[in-house]
Formats: sequence, C-alpha cells, structure tokens
Amino acid sequence: MFRSTSSAAFKAFQNQLHRGVQGSRLPSAIRSFASGSTSGSTASYRSQIGTILVASTTAVILTQLWNSRNENGTIKCDDGALTIRTSQERDDAYVTPPESEKPKQHIPSNKDPKYASKEEIDKVVELLKQKLTKGDNQVSTNPDELLSHGVSANTYHAAAIPNVVVYAESTEDVSEVMKLANEYRVPVTPFSGGTSLEGHITCPYGGICVDLSRMDKLLELHEEDGDAVVQAGCQWEAINEELKERGLNMFFPLDPGPSACIGGMMATGCSGTNAVRYGTAKGEWFLNATIVLPNGEIIKTRQRSRKSSAGYDLTKLFIGAEGTLGIVTEATIRLAPILPTRVAVCGFPGVEEAVSAVGEVINRGVPMQCVELCDTLMMEAIGKFGNVTMELPSKDSIFFKFQGSNPESIESNVKIVEEISRKFGGSNLLFAKNDKESDELWQARKSAHWSAMALVEGSTCYSTDVCVPVSNLPKLVKQTKEDLKENGIVGPILGHVGDGNFHCALIFKADVPGEFEKVDAAAHRMVKRAIALQGTCTGEHGVGIGKREFLPLELGEGTLGVMRQLKNTLDPKGIMNPGKVSDSL
Ligand SMILES: Cc1cc2nc3c(=O)[nH]c(=O)nc-3n(C[C@H](O)[C@H](O)[C@H](O)COP(=O)(O)OP(=O)(O)OC[C@H]3O[C@@H](n4cnc5c(N)ncnc54)[C@H](O)[C@@H]3O)c2cc1C
Repeated sequence: MFRSTSSAAFKAFQNQLHRGVQGSRLPSAIRSFASGSTSGSTASYRSQIGTILVASTTAVILTQLWNSRNENGTIKCDDGALTIRTSQERDDAYVTPPESEKPKQHIPSNKDPKYASKEEIDKVVELLKQKLTKGDNQVSTNPDELLSHGVSANTYHAAAIPNVVVYAESTEDVSEVMKLANEYRVPVTPFSGGTSLEGHITCPYGGICVDLSRMDKLLELHEEDGDAVVQAGCQWEAINEELKERGLNMFFPLDPGPSACIGGMMATGCSGTNAVRYGTAKGEWFLNATIVLPNGEIIKTRQRSRKSSAGYDLTKLFIGAEGTLGIVTEATIRLAPILPTRVAVCGFPGVEEAVSAVGEVINRGVPMQCVELCDTLMMEAIGKFGNVTMELPSKDSIFFKFQGSNPESIESNVKIVEEISRKFGGSNLLFAKNDKESDELWQARKSAHWSAMALVEGSTCYSTDVCVPVSNLPKLVKQTKEDLKENGIVGPILGHVGDGNFHCALIFKADVPGEFEKVDAAAHRMVKRAIALQGTCTGEHGVGIGKREFLPLELGEGTLGVMRQLKNTLDPKGIMNPGKVSDSL
C-alpha cells in the first residue's frame, strides 16, 4: 500500500523484460526499481531514461544468470564472483559448504558452524508455514524468490541464496520467525529494499531471509512534533510522497538509493546528497526503534521525545549494525521542514580548487542542502547521457543546492558563492533561473550512476565509497585518478564533497575475464589510501561482505573486540546475518 507506483510506460518496459527472463517472475531487484514513481519531485533518480538504464542493466545481469542455468536447474554466473544455486543445490552446498564448492571470492567462515541441518531447516520451514497464515503466501521456497533475495544486481560480491523467504507482516511475525530460528539455530538475514551495494543481502549460510517489504505503513504522523512512526518496509521516497499528499511541508531527509527502506537504511547507517545539511542515519533522524532480538524478544529502544539521556543509546547500537544484532520492525523518524532550494553548477580548474571552494563556502556558513562533486569524466558522461538540455561545464564541477527561507536570501547567497568560486578559478556559475531548471540540473546530477555506465557499451559499474576529512579529499582523488590511469580503468568520480565522501564508478565488462579482479583491486587500494588519510572504508554504504577485511586496519583489534562482545551478548548463537561486518563477529 505504502509504495510508489510505476508509470504505464515503465510497466510496458517491465513486461518486455519479463518476457526476456523466459516467463519467470521478475526478481526483486528489478521489481524494486520498477516500483518507483517516474513523476513528480521524487523523480530524482527516476527520470524515465534513468529507470530504464537501471532496469536494463539489472535485466542483463539477471537474464545472464537465468540463461546460464544448466539442465539440472543449477544457476551459475561466470563473472568470477558469483556461484548461484537452486534451493536443492543450496542445501547441499551451503549449509555445510565443502571446501571445493565455496565460491571463488571467499565466503566467511563462522566460529560457530553448528547451524541447523537440512532436516532441521525443512522442519522449521513447515513450522513457519503453520504459524504464519494471516497473509498471502508468507513463506516461500520458490527458487525465483530465493534467487532474488540472495543475489543483488547492485553488487559483484559472492552471492548465495537462503533456504526460505518469509514475508513478515507484523512485528509479531518477525518475533515468531526469530523464536524458531533461535531454537533450531537457523541463520537469518533481514531484507528491506535490497539496494545495498556491498553484498549485504547474500546468505552465505543459507537459512531464512526475513523480507520486511510488506511492512510498509505510516502508522502515526505527529505534525506538531515533526515526526512519524513508520514500519521498516517503508521506502524513503514513498514517505515523502505520502507527506506531500497529506499537505505537509515536511520531508525525511535521508536519501540513499531509490527504493531503499527504513529498516535497511537504519541497518546500513545510510546517508546521501542531503548529508552536508542534515547529517546521516547515525545522527538524530531515528528517535527510537522497535527491534526483534535474535531470541524473538521485542524491545523498543526509547520513547518518542526529541531528546533523552536515559541510559545507553540502544537506537544507535542498531544503526549500522547491518542486521547482525536484531531486526528493526518500526521506527520513529524525525521530519524536517521543506525550504526553498535552487541548484547551480560551477566548473573549476581541478578537484583541489573545487574542494577548497566548497570548504570556504561551508565555513562561511552559506546554507547549502547539497554540495556534490562530479569530475570532468563524470560531467562528460552526464552531458552525453543525463537527459539534460542545459550546457554543463566539461570540467571538475560542483553542484550546489542552495537552501534559504525565501528566494531573496538564496539570491544573496549565490553572490557569495560566485565570489568564492571565482577566487578558486571557478568560472560561469550556471544558476537555475526557476524551479524547472533547478529540477533539470538536479536530475542531471542524480543520473550520474547510470550515465557513467553508458560510457562503455555493455558495461556495468562497481560502485564503491570511501570518506576522508574534507581537507584530505583532493589528495585522495588525485591518487585515485593516477591509479585508474595507470591501470587503464574508466572510473568517473562523484562525491558528497561537503562531507569528504566520494564514490568512484569503476566501469567494467562482467564478461571479460580479469576485468572484475582489476576493478576490485583498484577499489581495495582506494580504501587503503582513505584509511591512511584518516578516513574510513565506507562513508555510507556500509561493510556487508565487501569491506569486512578493512575493519581491523581502520578500527583496530580493541574496537573490534568490543563489537564482538556486544554481538556475543545479544546473539550468542551467531544466527543474525552471519558473515557480515566482520569475519570475527
Ligand atoms: C543507485 C544507488 C544509489 C545509492 N546511493 C546511496 C547513497 O547516496 N547513500 C547511501 O547511503 N547509500 C546509497 N546506496 C546504497 C543503498 O541504497 C543503501 O545502503 C540503503 O540504505 C539500503 O537500504 P535497503 O532497504 O535497500 O537495505 P537492504 O539492501 O535490504 O539491506 C541492507 C542491510 O541491512 C539489513 N537489513 C535490512 N532490513 C533490515 C531490518 N529491518 N532490520 C535489520 N537489518 C536490516 C540487511 O540484512 C542488509 O545487511 C545506493 C544504492 C544504489 C543502488
């Protein structure tokens, strides 16, 4: 109910894709993108062209997977990272994975390998079917659904599917699942929007995938307090659409990937383009959360008041925990008033000058909702493929989204930014004259991910994120560009530069041997450089399985040891999303 709807044009395209996968049901990765609206202000990532590009890339990958099934129904992908199997194969291969059957990219080993046997899992599936009878088909072992919940077209990390998918419809459903999982020691992986990028949703030990997407209701709206109580399966864009439909001039400012949901957003500690103004999921945007613990117990982390200094901050404990400590089923989110904005873009002689200008703009206190860097290559990609009619600079550029209480205050701030930009060699600040131009410029920026992929025909994108103190960003970008050049990698750069957070879209062809390994190695070198520059292996995407190996380097053994103690206390049987965040949890 509380989801965006797709346009008729997109539905037609979706039907085409549907036929392309030989009559199978569309996997959720496609379904989730397909569910997005293509109209209105949330058109952010959703210009038709963008949506079609995502869906076609997704379809290519999933169709490749589907087409590469052998006659026994086993599904394999030859890109060097994925080995996907049907539920029967899964039972044989992953519940107790023999050495020879492990996917090429290492699947983690757990210190407590005594998970449920195949017979026990079968029994749990039967018990789940008996207990969860209120909704339609809440318990599924359909191979297509297992595939779409364990494999993501957004990631090239090793993928494995669950034994069963459970569509929870209430906190009590989740609690029932966890009680059984706890009793029989079945691994559980939560799933909300499925948009995460670091192999978060893969199920290396099989088990139960708890899909929260049916829990998509806005339960309470407190206009006077500026907050709302929502279920974990609510998509952030849908929340904002709903607030608009109800006539509220407020929004929820965390803006990760399209179709991401509250549960997954909390779990990954997400943010997005608005972070420079509103901060991240680890800020104060979640006032409380309802959590189902690994033993099935239900807790609420705190009350709804804006502030509380009563005891440990358990809400934050679950933010960024990636579903390794419990399952979020509801949360109270804070809302912010919508203020007028206007977008401008300015080209600079280089990244260093661009970042220095941003530093000065922020330190002068100019109100900015977003400050985004796109390097020259990314600007060229957007210019060619971003569906933009305005002439964009073909230079390392900054997109500024100005915010102000009225148009006059924005105009005067634009003058300050123009002056600062000129000081750093910035030329021809292209300032949107009206809302239409503003939307067009912002769409251009939002189309970056897909525009980058269009640079190389038949390619896909290994998207990675790191974050450093803002002043170290130019150094990191320079070193990264040199590295990419030396290794012949196409890698346009995009950054939430106001936070020192940058993404590199490493473009490669999945069907060319060695290309994945090349971009994977480049991403790892980038991470090591970021950590050396006092930064982090991930500013917003989270660890999943892709960044696990860097945690000891970034955090040190002592800090990881405390995390381990917390994990062991809350999840002594190690059933919550095993294999994620750290090998040693
Ligand atoms: C095109 C694109 C652009 C993106 N841009 C950004 C960006 O700008 N900023 C950003 O931060 N991210 C971005 N992302 C990444 C992604 O959107 C975020 O990581 C998002 O927060 C994931 O939410 P989800 O609902 O899809 O989670 P999922 O993918 O479903 O799950 C993510 C993790 O959370 C766990 N989890 C899911 N639901 C729950 C729950 N209810 N309780 C406990 N654990 C749970 C899962 O087990 C998994 O480990 C982008 C992704 C794409 C594809």
